[in-house]
Amino acid sequence: PITVEHLSAWLRHFAATVDERHEYLTELDSAIGDADHGVNMTRGMRAVVEKLDAGAPEFADDLFKAVGMALVSSVGGASGPLYGTFFLRLGTKAGHVSEVDASSFGQALRAGLEGVIARGKAEVGDKTMLDAMVPAVEAFERSAADGSGAATAADAAASASEEGRDATEPIVARKGRASYLGDRSVGHLDPGATSTAMLFRSLATALA
Ligand code: ADP
Ligand code: MG
Ligand code: MG
Repeated sequence: PITVEHLSAWLRHFAATVDERHEYLTELDSAIGDADHGVNMTRGMRAVVEKLDAGAPEFADDLFKAVGMALVSSVGGASGPLYGTFFLRLGTKAGHVSEVDASSFGQALRAGLEGVIARGKAEVGDKTMLDAMVPAVEAFERSAADGSGAATAADAAASASEEGRDATEPIVARKGRASYLGDRSVGHLDPGATSTAMLFRSLATALA
């Protein structure tokens, strides 16, 4: 099963990745947005790590609630409330537990995804983080339903999210700032789909 320690390791790994790749994320956002996605994600995940350092919660719901609140309150851009909602919903669904099996975690990921959809009103093909998140959650659920463990499911999710990220390059943005560019958004990866692929790759690394 996935323990709360695994979940903390996931968040720390994602924070380190975002820190390391912040210039790249901002470069992607400078092509089709306002050049702050790396800055936004770094600020948000640093706030998350500060909370973990101050005392990592013992239960999944408390952990994810702290993460969601840190993101919502520290990030001004679209990504703050969207990732914040993802983690708040993940926590609500995961519940007051210190470990969770693969299929329950798949249900929690599904709840997080539904929160992002409800909040951002985007769908697959709009060139947003959902283009990476939807296939990731579907792959995780499928793998868990086949009886795979959490590590295998997370690896399938990471690969699916990377394919989804790559699929954002040739399409026109229909949500968020990039949509203001119309056809000029074609030929660039979506920054949020790129950070979401990092999120799922970090999960696979933490559970490996
Ligand atoms: P902002 O656009 O406010 O500067 P960021 O640069 O941090 O915020 O995040 C931009 C990313 O947010 C986009 O690349 C896209 O993936 C995601 N995004 C924007 N609007 C939506 C939406 N309505 N639904 C889902 N994701 C969205
Ligand atoms: Mg931006
Ligand atoms: Mg911005």
